[in-house]
Amino acid sequence: MVFQSRWSFPIPKVSLPTFIFDSPTADLPTTPAFISAREPEKHFISIADYRLYAQRLASGLLRSGLKPGDRVLLFSGNTLYFPTVIMGVIMAGGIFTGANPGYVARELAYQLKDSGARFMICTEGSLETGMEAAKQVGLPVSSIFLFDDGVATIEGRAVEKETPQGTIRHWTTLLDSEDKGRAYHWPDDDLDAVVTLNYSSGTTGVAKGVMITHKNYVANCLQQIHIGKQIDNYEAKRQRQRGLCFLPLFHAMSQAVFAVNAPVQRVPVYMMPKFDFLEMLQCVQKYRITDLTLVPPVVVAMAKHPATKKFDLSSVERVGSGAAPLGREICEELEKLWPDGRVNVKQGWGMTEVTCAVTTYDPSKIDKKSSVGELLANCQAKIVRDDEGKVEAKPGERGEVLLKGPNVMKGYWGKEQATKEAFTSDGWYKTGDVCYVDEEGHFFIVDRKKELIKVKGLQVAPAELEALLLDHPDVQDAAVIGVTANGEELPRAYIVPQAQTKPTPEVAENIKRWLAERVSKAKRLEGGVHFIDAIPKNPSGKILRKKLRERAAAEPKAK
Ligand code: AMP
Repeated sequence: MVFQSRWSFPIPKVSLPTFIFDSPTADLPTTPAFISAREPEKHFISIADYRLYAQRLASGLLRSGLKPGDRVLLFSGNTLYFPTVIMGVIMAGGIFTGANPGYVARELAYQLKDSGARFMICTEGSLETGMEAAKQVGLPVSSIFLFDDGVATIEGRAVEKETPQGTIRHWTTLLDSEDKGRAYHWPDDDLDAVVTLNYSSGTTGVAKGVMITHKNYVANCLQQIHIGKQIDNYEAKRQRQRGLCFLPLFHAMSQAVFAVNAPVQRVPVYMMPKFDFLEMLQCVQKYRITDLTLVPPVVVAMAKHPATKKFDLSSVERVGSGAAPLGREICEELEKLWPDGRVNVKQGWGMTEVTCAVTTYDPSKIDKKSSVGELLANCQAKIVRDDEGKVEAKPGERGEVLLKGPNVMKGYWGKEQATKEAFTSDGWYKTGDVCYVDEEGHFFIVDRKKELIKVKGLQVAPAELEALLLDHPDVQDAAVIGVTANGEELPRAYIVPQAQTKPTPEVAENIKRWLAERVSKAKRLEGGVHFIDAIPKNPSGKILRKKLRERAAAEPKAK
């Protein structure tokens, strides 16, 4: 059976810049759109500024030699100008790719190389890692630009930086002056052109650049707005709406919600450089935030932490969570913060490969079952019980979700085989998520068939960790799975030791530490290092992760 969204409408044939800004010269609001959560009175930019700076950057990038389809990598936490860089690159006809600011040089070098980035923009705090990664892939110093928290840019005190390898220019040197800033490309001609590459491992293997197009972004934004409009007095609600961005803008979810959807709806966003629990609560209270976009660990922290009750959170009208599973009990605990029953914590489900979201809970209804909601407009889903996607599940039965819709990616960058494997022969995208659908068309994500592990909303690809672990002198073979401890997913390695290695707790600890030096925080083996005689594999050598998961379930819980 094919599940069809209740809604369907034509998606306007416009580029992402036209969709957000109307045209290169249309009148735009000059009221604050992105506001520094630390210095809101002094540091903000309007929608008009967002477009102007993006135009100036696009013009400067073209002047500096950017060609259509060239990639620009931004290595930074959230700043006022992060969205500007995304849109400037797109207006130049380039492709934006954002990297996790917590990456070590090896991880960044992988993304630089895989995307074939022509330019890298990098914060001062990350410059050492950035330069090291650039060296590894042969990106010249002249292609690296310094970024800042936006404040230095506004105050005009941006400076270049001398390094032993040469001078790193500030990103503002890429901005053409206002009168010159007209040479950008306003790309309405090719709506299937790729505009971003966010990295995701998909159902298997290492991280791959997900090709998202103008059409994907425009469609997914309208799909999300459409379901949001189901409430009464939508327009009044939109006018008082205020968002708070602390989820990382290098990730598909934050990017779509804050760099696209909020500006399209002219909703102001307070920008936090990164997540800090108490600062977040302070911001909600101080700026009277109405909408909270959360990931499960933040929902848990808000529900459990005693400090939450000390803040005035009465402005909050909507709490949404996505990126990883979330149980109903914890949602109910959080809802108690608003005793009048006004706030119903709702979930959405999505993935980098569908731009951002594919299901969301209708805001006019009350969720009492921890569903991820229903299909967004123009989307179709099929629940299947086999790898080829041919055996459909019976109504209410569990299976892998296959998807079709205007928000589904074009494919993986430079990876034809992986792209082919991600779709069935008749064009359904294989999500790797297991779910069932109730009689009302509500989706319930109950398991994950794919290898992916999600740690605090971030992707961890077992294949990457396994390849690294095989380089350790005490490791003969390795497999990594996700285990759940205190409601959170953590990576755990199963290791077959070398013949001469004694599988002691000290060796396990050493392996854990060794890996921690080579990966960003989310990928550390906090779920433990366990020794095993042999990694269960099928005859073609594929790791039977299900067997390891069953084994983990029978073992004592991860510490
Ligand atoms: P990402 O591409 O990083 O956004 O990761 C996408 C994956 O996160 C999905 O394929 C799911 O496995 C998981 N995910 C996202 N949202 C949810 C949700 N609401 N409930 C359960 N898992 C989710």
